[in-house]
Amino acid sequence: MSSDLSTGVAQNLRDRLGDLVVLPEDAGYDQARMPWNVAIDQRPAAVARPESAEDVVQIVRAAAEAGLRVAPQSTGHGAAALADTDLSDTVLVSLAGLRGVTVDAGARTARVLGGSVWDDVLAAAAPHGLTALHGSSGGVSVAGYALSGGLSFYARSKGLAVNTVRAVQLVTADGSLVRASADEHAELFWAVRGGAGSFGVVVSLEIDLLPIADVFAGMLLWDAARAAEVVPAYAAWTAAAPESATTSLRVMHFPPIPELPPFLSGRDLVVIDGAILEADAAASDLLAPLRALEPEMDTFGRIPSAGLVAVHMDPPDPTPALTAHAMLGSLPADAVAAFLEASALPGVFFTELRQVGGAASRPVGSGGAVSSLDGEFLLHAVALAPVPEALAPADAAVKAVTARLEPWKIDALALTFIDGGGVDPAAGYGASLDRLRELKRRFDPERRFAAARAV
Ligand SMILES: Cc1cc2nc3c(=O)[nH]c(=O)nc-3n(C[C@H](O)[C@H](O)[C@H](O)COP(=O)(O)OP(=O)(O)OC[C@H]3O[C@@H](n4cnc5c(N)ncnc54)[C@H](O)[C@@H]3O)c2cc1C
Repeated sequence: MSSDLSTGVAQNLRDRLGDLVVLPEDAGYDQARMPWNVAIDQRPAAVARPESAEDVVQIVRAAAEAGLRVAPQSTGHGAAALADTDLSDTVLVSLAGLRGVTVDAGARTARVLGGSVWDDVLAAAAPHGLTALHGSSGGVSVAGYALSGGLSFYARSKGLAVNTVRAVQLVTADGSLVRASADEHAELFWAVRGGAGSFGVVVSLEIDLLPIADVFAGMLLWDAARAAEVVPAYAAWTAAAPESATTSLRVMHFPPIPELPPFLSGRDLVVIDGAILEADAAASDLLAPLRALEPEMDTFGRIPSAGLVAVHMDPPDPTPALTAHAMLGSLPADAVAAFLEASALPGVFFTELRQVGGAASRPVGSGGAVSSLDGEFLLHAVALAPVPEALAPADAAVKAVTARLEPWKIDALALTFIDGGGVDPAAGYGASLDRLRELKRRFDPERRFAAARAV
């Protein structure tokens, strides 16, 4: 991707937007274009940094006048999913300066500005004994996660986060600021709940919060030498587990780096983590078969719900990574054996089985284009790519993992886990795809918006 603006267009953007826009010749361009996933070298025509909804209106109008596309980006956690898109004619709208959360504790809702991240929501909600269907990283944005589904450690009991979105305020392709909800611009509201950045730049959302002040959550950790025992035991455990449990199993290979705590640095591990929405005694009974495998560490217990976001140990700082995923319909013994083989393949940082099913798999009648996710497990592989030469091997490594489990794959994808690598997102939209495309043509006839997982 190369940025190559004509002098006239660049001058026009500068005249219209002043300091809101950073152009390739500006000293701050390299910093402004840097996504959280620093493996991705995105080079947009310009980066715009709004601080208000009105700024976003001006940016979209100026881009349209200049004949440029617009790509909303809040954190760049999903930047790999945009990497297949040529951004040389695109203004990247970085929403990092548009953060803030207001909680209405009585109504159990939050109004969230467009670039806010889950840590912002948890900090505002926790004092009221409330939480939200956040994912495993507090640094991921609410808009980018929730409007593409959003799979949390509450998912099997509470469903996908997208179903907690009550209203979305967005700047549409004609530069209008629109509030979309069940009662206003209902078709756009349907489309953006799944279609996300393909339909506009979201400047705020209203989401439901949950009255969960504390939760039974944590992790169990073994040396990877125990994987051949732990993985089949986990498969058997999940087959019987109630919907109150949403967990993940990862086989992880940590490089020896001093920044890591000694229990991780340089080690190969099996980690099971997640949440169980039961009283302590019932949750402990449920965990007993896994605890019987005598993990080296066991942190499961009751914690404030705001602490759940730390349980999966996702990196808070920018990280260069490539990933691949697949949805699995079941996990019989031969799939477990294939997962064990895949988890030992070279070049992979971790190989994960995330429990899905339950409420996450049940479509919601009042929902949007995406309201559920088919499959019993999400298979996920992550490889680090700290230098450009590592990109191709990392991509090959994660794809080798999902290829090993080909026989158990179903025709579905979790939109939030589509992370580049030339993956067609169609399977993430399922039966909604045709209507979404029709609405894209209607609401954005000139294809103004460029988005990850484009419809
Ligand atoms: C460490 C890590 C942990 C994760 N954990 C989970 C998890 O537990 N569960 C899960 O479901 N997913 C998870 N994800 C995936 C993540 O939810 C998606 O990549 C998500 O799209 C990231 O959103 P973002 O806005 O932070 O990223 P960005 O790269 O900024 O945005 C991705 C896309 O979201 C859209 N978007 C973002 N902000 C706006 C906006 N304001 N207006 C319009 N469109 C917008 C755009 O289409 C954009 O291209 C994780 C990713 C990482 C890297």
